[in-house]
Amino acid sequence: MIKFLDLKKINEQYEAEINQAFESFFKSGWYILGNSVKAFEKEFAKYCGTKYCIGVASGLDALILILKAYDFEPGDEIIVPANTYIATILSISQNNLKPVLVEPDINTYNIDPAKIEEKITDKTKAIMVVHLYGQTAQMQAINEIAKKHNLKVIEDSAQSHGAIYQGKRAGNLSDASGFSFYPGKNLGTLGDGGAVTTNDDELAEKIRVLRNYGSEVKYKNKYKGINSRLDELQAAILSVKLKNLDEDTQKRRGIAEYYLNNIKNPKVILPMVTEAESHVWHLFVVRTDEREKLQEYLKEDDIQTMIHYPIAPHKQNAYKEWNYRSLPITEQIHDEVLSLPISPVMTLDEAKVVVDTINNY
Ligand SMILES: *Cc1c(COP(=O)(O)O)cnc(C)c1O
Repeated sequence: MIKFLDLKKINEQYEAEINQAFESFFKSGWYILGNSVKAFEKEFAKYCGTKYCIGVASGLDALILILKAYDFEPGDEIIVPANTYIATILSISQNNLKPVLVEPDINTYNIDPAKIEEKITDKTKAIMVVHLYGQTAQMQAINEIAKKHNLKVIEDSAQSHGAIYQGKRAGNLSDASGFSFYPGKNLGTLGDGGAVTTNDDELAEKIRVLRNYGSEVKYKNKYKGINSRLDELQAAILSVKLKNLDEDTQKRRGIAEYYLNNIKNPKVILPMVTEAESHVWHLFVVRTDEREKLQEYLKEDDIQTMIHYPIAPHKQNAYKEWNYRSLPITEQIHDEVLSLPISPVMTLDEAKVVVDTINNY
């Protein structure tokens, strides 16, 4: 059986170091906002090339906190790709802001910069981009539009730890960025976790306070904050795994390259890579108009695949007020995508089985 993602195998590589990290954590007697969180924040900021990193409880919370810290007015508009995991859009709704959905580019699956300007109104405050499947969005064009219209740019980097665009890493390509360390992400912990990265002094300070009840000094509350802290234990685990992130990314690239060079089936559309370093292959997503059939065929050969994602956000029950809308490119992508197995512990032999099976379809 070729697993879609063997998390157990991924984490077993770090068993000794994680056990050691647990032991120091346990013996420290300090469980929340201590030295492990501080250390990881410093390491991850350095890795991303940003001045600041603030550890929070999840990727969704990272995005929620960025928008909260900007103090936009209820009803202000945030431009966001229609083609994304729903968390991106939820972070906007949860701040009583209005998500303005923009169609993706059919080749990269990321927000189409050419379709952003027509959506800008007097109420637009920010563009929230997503580096979907691990490939950075077209940040130069997006940052230029934002500058012209005086908008903030926020990255959802939950799928793109370590991706490099024009010499800078994801998380350092905008005003502020949210990361997730959910177990299945490229840098994943053994539970929930997230972070905000930014170079903005004021924003960093405000998010640091907002994540802890809005309190800077214990029992003194400067803002109406929330409880969204990265655990000490998760931070210690992340410090262990961060050291290997670039190596893991290279392994993902090895699998992706093998797929790109060897899958030759006219029914299967391969992903487009704009620049080798800009893609960290969180997912290897192909498209076919026979998606269900291909998935079933691969399953019969013991190859696990997944669909990211089966239902577009605007077609979800959670957004039933938008169900009538037609976003044809987004819907086409949701109908046709299939994610093939890829991970740092997948072998080339396994990739070869996947390739041969698809080529014989
Ligand atoms: C995973 C993910 C999130 C949310 O992260 P959590 O840690 O699960 O809250 C947000 N955006 C995208 C694009 C994601 O893939």
